[in-house]
Amino acid sequence: MHDQYGRTVDYLRLSVTDLCNYRCQYCMPPEGVCKRPHGHILNVEECIEVGKAAVRCGVKKIRLTGGEPLVRRGLLDICRGLRAIPGLEELCLTTNGSLLPELARPLREAGVDRLNISLDTLRPDRFSWLTRLGHLAEPLAGIRAAEAAGFTHLKLDTVLIGGFNDGEIGDFLDLTRKHPWEVRFIELMPMGPCAHWENACFLPGEAVLERYPVLQPLPSQGVARRYCLPGARGTVGLISPMSHDFCGDCRRIRVTADGKLKGCLHSREELSLRGLHGADLETAIQKSILQKPQRHHLTDRPSDTPRTMNQIGG
Ligand code: SAM
Ligand code: SF4
Repeated sequence: MHDQYGRTVDYLRLSVTDLCNYRCQYCMPPEGVCKRPHGHILNVEECIEVGKAAVRCGVKKIRLTGGEPLVRRGLLDICRGLRAIPGLEELCLTTNGSLLPELARPLREAGVDRLNISLDTLRPDRFSWLTRLGHLAEPLAGIRAAEAAGFTHLKLDTVLIGGFNDGEIGDFLDLTRKHPWEVRFIELMPMGPCAHWENACFLPGEAVLERYPVLQPLPSQGVARRYCLPGARGTVGLISPMSHDFCGDCRRIRVTADGKLKGCLHSREELSLRGLHGADLETAIQKSILQKPQRHHLTDRPSDTPRTMNQIGG
């Protein structure tokens, strides 16, 4: 389906929980979020119903996210239900990787096609500081488990934070020499706890190219500009929502764990899908697609959304 600006919308990011076993400094408040009653978030059947209606509206790819999707009870049932939808081409999931040692194989068996694993630093001390509750050994074991379970083309998502991990760009690039992974540097977006961090933290993706001119361009994929080191097995992606606003090519809608459809990550506008079924659900999704905002305004001011990132899903 097309929106009013002629963009094809065929990608749904479906958040299955606000909760997380980490508390990344830029994403969540240190105290986490209050556990809300079960009825507050979409149940397994509702998640699948939203997926089915979205596919009827033209969605071809669904990404499960959170919070941390792997802490969601019923996640495997959600995956199986979504995977069975005729017309869905890709079921993906974004995770901090910490629970993949137990869950990589069941996720693969439940039909998840691809995984993105977030990893912002390769230094154990920095990882513990950034995530407040995590240990670097966890996502590293998760990556190994994902590969052992048969996930190929892994993407590692690294949020670039000036003064924190920009000295590690070379170490991340080195990973692509040995492994067939895509390391993706994502620009930090000013929202939630990091909305008012100092300017120096918001490093443009261009810094990667300036520091490593040896990177060779490859064809872009989705919102990622792609590169590789000569002779490397893996690739490098730059996701630059701040410096290269890619709103003109945005194909996404988002549904939050509490069932609100968002046409734009950074907009205040939300449409509640709770209690809607069948044709009504489809009509609501179509309406939101038509009303999808043209662009965000992050270069002028922090995100307009009052939500923190764990309440949307990235
Ligand atoms: N817990 C999972 C994870 O960390 O991958 C999935 C949810 S998390 C909200 C999705 C992605 O959003 C992560 O890669 C995270 O680093 C990224 N993220 C969170 N806050 C961000 C911000 N302010 N700017 C850019 N990326 C952000
Ligand atoms: Fe949790 Fe992901 Fe947010 Fe980190 S970025 S606190 S892992 S939801």
